[in-house]
Amino acid sequence: MRKLVIGLAVLAVGSKSSSLAVADESVPAPEIESAVENVPELIFPIAGEERAEPKFAEGKFGAYRPGRSGRRDCGRGHCGIDLCATMGSPVMVVMDGVVAQIDRSQTGEGGSWIRVEHPNGKTTWYMHLARIREGIKVGADVHAGETIATLGRTGVTTSPTHLHFALTVGKPGRERHLDPTSFLEKAALVAAPVDPEPKKPKKALRSEAPDL
Ligand SMILES: [Zn+2]
Repeated sequence: MRKLVIGLAVLAVGSKSSSLAVADESVPAPEIESAVENVPELIFPIAGEERAEPKFAEGKFGAYRPGRSGRRDCGRGHCGIDLCATMGSPVMVVMDGVVAQIDRSQTGEGGSWIRVEHPNGKTTWYMHLARIREGIKVGADVHAGETIATLGRTGVTTSPTHLHFALTVGKPGRERHLDPTSFLEKAALVAAPVDPEPKKPKKALRSEAPDL
């Protein structure tokens, strides 16, 4: 069973010191314990105290991209949203799903990226990654809030470091992009990734000393 410390997630939305005091004094321990089991179905892909967002005009969905205004589904060319964050930030999958593709753009624009398919028919894309997390391979089951990679600058030239996040529907190669802005507004912001508990090291098998 996966656990999420909701107390920490709550801290993430308020200012540090005041929420700390409130969380300590007013929330009895048993309530925190009972809330711990519920992992939100939709989790914002970058953990932290504030939602990462495009901090430059070209980072919004549908922003102008030279030579890419021919796509009807991406406004003036930008098919995702650029969430500014620091290099090395863990990138989390937003919903439960299956890793469908791990790739590197030939044009260099997307850099290293991962595509995850979800049971609700939606597909999410995570671009400009640095390192893919160990165990994240095509076909792997992933869960909302699980780290799949770290953020890098692959495929990024001049803009601030950011995760290019895209949301699509439809079959691979024929997908249609949706504006992920309102989708991400509904996502829960968590203080830290909801990674699976590390596997316990196997106990070495020990033989009893044979009777002599
Ligand atoms: Zn982008």
